[in-house]
Formats: sequence, structure tokens, C-alpha cells
Amino acid sequence: MQKIFSELKTITGAYGAELVAVSKTKSVEDIMSLYNMGQRIFGENRVQELVEKQRQMPKDIEWHMIGHLQKNKVKYLAPFVDLIHAVDSWVLLKMINKEALKNNRSINILLQLKIANEESKYGLSHSELISLLEQFKEHELTSISIHGLMGMATFTDDKEQIRSEFKTLKNTFNEVKELFFSRDADFKILSMGMSGDYKIALAEGSTLIRVGSLLFGER
Ligand SMILES: *Cc1c(COP(=O)(O)O)cnc(C)c1O
Repeated sequence: MQKIFSELKTITGAYGAELVAVSKTKSVEDIMSLYNMGQRIFGENRVQELVEKQRQMPKDIEWHMIGHLQKNKVKYLAPFVDLIHAVDSWVLLKMINKEALKNNRSINILLQLKIANEESKYGLSHSELISLLEQFKEHELTSISIHGLMGMATFTDDKEQIRSEFKTLKNTFNEVKELFFSRDADFKILSMGMSGDYKIALAEGSTLIRVGSLLFGER
């Protein structure tokens, strides 16, 4: 684990990017060994598991919710979550805003764009993303801070396809930044790249890679 962790730190550092260690299904002991090597950002995709680990582990960990989030579960994360990666609906945005207000804090989120060429229930199309942002600007959800975009490439060996999907995400990021966030320095995160495609993602402009199995072993 030490070797691949050092490699990942070096390569993300070279690109000025950051690493989310995806610890879903892994034990507190496994996560602590990475923590002891200096890693502080961990990502989970199930609310209950995330909450349980947060309760048991050191409080200087930054917890990221990287998976699909149901609106009735936002309340469990709202007191402490550092970044919610995969927001893809107005009802979810409104719920996050409401729970953030209740907790007297602002919650950082990313909007998920659907870039993969496969049937997936989650993520926004380009036009849905634009409409959502128009709605967001109109309604001023003041307890939410949109920090950028997130996406997942198709699960394939075709590197050029993956590259082209990441390019689409990066182009959309630039477009949305200019249209809606040109004076907002917080809109700066492009979350893309996993164990199998993080090198392509970094080359295409990722600022945050989400790596699980490469660090912790197969799930
Ligand atoms: C599981 C997961 C990852 C990490 O996947 P690996 O292939 O194990 O690196 C990244 N992003 C999301 C949204 C995930 O659910």
C-alpha cells in the first residue's frame, strides 16, 4: 500500500491535484493504515457506512460522499460532510440546503454530469445541468456552495473513449465556469478518474481523483 500511495501522491502533486482514498467496504483498521501514512481525504458511497466510520475515526479526516445520495439520508451527513460529489437533481440540492441551514453551516457539493456511454440512472445531461444552474442562480440556495463537477467514464478498455469522455467533462466545466461562476473562486474542482483511468483523467485536467481498489486491493 505504501508504494502505490507514494506513487499516487507524487503524480497528483505533479498535476496540482488531490487524492480521495475510496474506502468503501474497507475496515477502520485498513483506513487507519493509510491515515497513518498521511492521507486525510476519504470517500464512501453509502451513508450508513460513512457515518459509522466518521464516528469512530480521527476528526481531522475530510469525508467525501462520492456515491448516489437519496434525499431522505442527507440529514445524517449534513453535520460534518466535507464534499458531496454526485448531486444530480434540484430536489436533492434543496434538501442539502435545508439540512445545511439546520446545522448552521454551508455544504460543499459537486454536480454530476453523465459522460459515460452506458445506461446509468445517475448524472445530469448537459441541458439538465444548464437548467439546474439557472434554477440555482434564481433561487439563491445560500447554504450550498457548488465547487465544481464530477463524472464517471465508461467502464471499458478503450482508452480513447475514456479520454474523449473526460474531455467532454472538462469542456463542460470550462463552459459552466464562464457562464455561472466566473467570479466565484470556489468553483474549481473537477472530480474525475478512478483506479483504472486516473492517469488519463489527470492528463485531461482532473483536480481530484477517486481511487479505491488500487490502494486498498480488490473489494
Ligand atoms: C468505488 C468508486 C470509486 C473508486 O473505484 P476504484 O475503481 O476502486 O478506484 C470512484 N468513484 C466512485 C463514484 C465510486 O463509487
